[in-house]
Amino acid sequence: MAIQKTEQEWKQELSPEDFHILREKGTEPAFTGIYWDNHAAGIYRCKACNVELFESTSKYDSGCGWPSFTRPFDEHVIDEHEDLSFGRVRTEVTCHNCGGHLGHVFPDGPQDQGGLRYCINSASIKLDEEK
Ligand SMILES: [Zn+2]
Repeated sequence: MAIQKTEQEWKQELSPEDFHILREKGTEPAFTGIYWDNHAAGIYRCKACNVELFESTSKYDSGCGWPSFTRPFDEHVIDEHEDLSFGRVRTEVTCHNCGGHLGHVFPDGPQDQGGLRYCINSASIKLDEEK
């Protein structure tokens, strides 16, 4: 990780909700985030460290209530971790640059675009809209 901050430092920089999701691996309720139904063009950046994470061209309507992408900005920007919480086997995805929790990746994405669904919390990202 390029960015190493203490939890106390993150707490001062992030809103309580964003801190909970990015640093405590929380999940926003489905259909409540600001980006699940957003179709604007641009680059989605990590809300904690500003690095490019996803492009709007890989965003699609999965119907799950969270912003969903078929692929990351590039293969190096995201780390994957096995997540055995809640009695399930899932793959957590985090920001490679700062370690922030983003969401999970599931193997039920569009088959013609690689078959993956990156299911991301709106609170973990911010859209850099194309002007
Ligand atoms: Zn980050």
